[in-house]
Amino acid sequence: MPMQLAGSCRCGAVAFSVQSHTPAPYQLCYCSICRKQAGGGGYAINLGADARTLEIKGKDAIGIFRARIHDDEHSKATTSSGERNFCTKCGTALWLFDPTWADLVHPFASAIDSDLPKPPSRVHLMLKYKASWVEPDIRAGETAYDLYPELSIADWHRQHGMWVD
Ligand SMILES: [Zn+2]
Ligand SMILES: [Zn+2]
Repeated sequence: MPMQLAGSCRCGAVAFSVQSHTPAPYQLCYCSICRKQAGGGGYAINLGADARTLEIKGKDAIGIFRARIHDDEHSKATTSSGERNFCTKCGTALWLFDPTWADLVHPFASAIDSDLPKPPSRVHLMLKYKASWVEPDIRAGETAYDLYPELSIADWHRQHGMWVD
């Protein structure tokens, strides 16, 4: 059985549940979107879950942010297809959903109330975009990437024996 995750915003207007095979909070993203939306320590932690199982209470209170992205490779800014769901009443960041990968939803670990399994090590990504004051706490055996890591969230869980069947 996949793990049932329960999440909520801080004011209680929004609550949700979702099933996850990949609930370990191992992936720390330092990009400016994650950092500003949910990363007071310089990064946010995204989980992977099964979008078909997402159940939401308080949908009316949810706002959706789609970031404008400006990167080195493209001179024109584009709008991210990723939909960052948050509570419009208290500001809690809830999850990322991208219709390009419609089977998946990525809850922010910070919005989850269930106990999450502790990862044996962590992956640091998007360090190219970290804020200058952030000193990443990269421990022995951990991996760090300027941009995206090699392993998908699913593959990382399988390789580390953390996949929940
Ligand atoms: Zn709220
Ligand atoms: Zn990010």
